[in-house]
Order: sequence, then structure tokens, then C-alpha cells
Amino acid sequence: PVEYECTPMKEGEMLTGAVITFRDVTERREVERMKDEFVSIVSHELRTPLTSIRGSLGLLAAGKLGEVPEKGRRMLDIAVQNTDRLVRLINDILDIERIESGRVTMEVRSTDAAELAHQAVEVMAAMAERAGIRLFAWAERLPLAADPDRILQVLTNLLSNAVKFSPPGGEVTVTTEAREGEVLFRVVDQGRGIPEDRLDAIFERFQQVDSSDAREKGGTGLGLAICRSIVQQHGGRIWVESEMGKGSTFLFTLPTQTPGIPAPLPAPEPA
Ligand code: ADP
Repeated sequence: PVEYECTPMKEGEMLTGAVITFRDVTERREVERMKDEFVSIVSHELRTPLTSIRGSLGLLAAGKLGEVPEKGRRMLDIAVQNTDRLVRLINDILDIERIESGRVTMEVRSTDAAELAHQAVEVMAAMAERAGIRLFAWAERLPLAADPDRILQVLTNLLSNAVKFSPPGGEVTVTTEAREGEVLFRVVDQGRGIPEDRLDAIFERFQQVDSSDAREKGGTGLGLAICRSIVQQHGGRIWVESEMGKGSTFLFTLPTQTPGIPAPLPAPEPA
């Protein structure tokens, strides 16, 4: 396969010619294919034995195989935590590869923005409570054509970050708002904020503001890249606004109607 690029040459405003560059991309495509294959094999070969290790550790930690001495229990807890982190990492790698390569299609149906926002808050309630964060949804009922499971994944990812990067006593809110032809979701926190020069970068894979974020907060550095892929596959946009020390607001839009799919009926008024 060959790619080409055309660069116009100008003298002032006058077009005097053009340079066409042809590039043989056979090698690059092959490298990309090998990378995809490598990621897929590694992830699958790692996940199966890891699931089995996690199972055994879980049985031991739960005392199902007899009493574990205090010191051993602490070690087991650390082993369980780290195994869980590895499982999350592998699942995230698999997920992003599948979404970005277009191997998972979004199962778009009629759904409702407020319902998704409330569901996400419910899913995250226990984590927020443990961290001492108050979590709210101020959401309007707005009809949407989207894959509800995937949008829930985006919202829970954003909420989990908001909780992770906020001090105890903070507040996190999800809101929804109708815009021209789209719905705008906001996840607002009062956490540590994100430096201006990192606002775009954090949506790339494995990009973190602080290199210790993954280790200390148990993240994988893939959450926002996954969110971006899902939102873009729906024809929406995602970005962040932030002020250091004051908090961050993650925003994403979803079109009210996806091309080729009829707009859903308006959601009924709550009884
Ligand atoms: P992770 O698994 O590390 O949370 P993400 O892709 O979800 O990976 O986020 C990437 C990085 O962006 C985080 O490690 C953190 O540095 C920064 N970040 C994400 N959300 C927030 C937030 N709400 N407040 C401050 N920093 C954030």
C-alpha cells in the first residue's frame, strides 16, 4: 500500500506548482498489525493464568483453606490488590484495542441521560463514601440514542477519577444539559486540578499528570483514552477544563440522534 501527500507551491498568492510525495507504507502497516497481534496474544495469555491466581488468593484470603496468620494475611491482601490491578490493566488494554480497531460496535438504543447519570452515581456511591466524598446527580431527563452500557462506563470512569483526585469532604456532581442537537454531560470535582499543559495529553494512553498516580491511586492510565474512544464512536466530543487546586470539570457531548438511527421518543414525565 502507498500513501500520498500533495503540497501546493505558491509565489505570493499565485499557485506555481505542486509537490506530490508517495510513501510506501507496507512496512508501517505490518508493524501496526504485529503490534495489535502482540497486544492481543499477551493480554489473553496473561489474563487466563492471572484469573486462576486471583481465584486461589481469594480463597486463601477468605480463610476458606484454614486460618492465615496475621503477617501472612497482610501479604495476601497486598497480593490480592496487585493482582486486581493487573487484571484491570489487562482488561483495559483489551478494551481499548477492541474499541479503537472497531471490533466492538456500539449497541445504540433509545436511552435517557438522567437515568444514566443516576445509575453511574449509584455504582460509585460506595467508593465515594469510603473516600468521604459527597456524590450527586443533577440531571434532566433527556432522550439519547447511545449504547447505555458504554456511556455508563464513561461516566463511572470519570466519577472514579473525580473521587480519586479529590480530598475527603469534597463534592462531585454529574449534570446533563440539552444543547442544539446534543446532550452535554459534566462531571465536576473540587479536587487537585490538572495543569494547563496536560489538559489534552491525559486523554492519550498511559498519560498521567504525576508518574506516581497509577501506583498510588491504583489506576491504569487508560481510563480517559477509553472514554474518548467511546464518546468519539458515538459522534461526540470529550474535553476537560480545570483550575489547579480548585477542581476539574470533564465534559462530553452525545448527539441526540445518531446518523441512521431514528431519534428516540421523549422520556415520560416521572410519576
Ligand atoms: P488513571 O487510571 O491513572 O486514572 P486515566 O486515563 O483515567 O488514568 O487518567 C489519566 C490521568 O489524568 C490520571 O492519572 C491523573 O493524573 C489525571 N486525572 C484524571 N482525572 C482527574 C481529575 N478528576 N482530577 C485530577 N487529575 C485527573
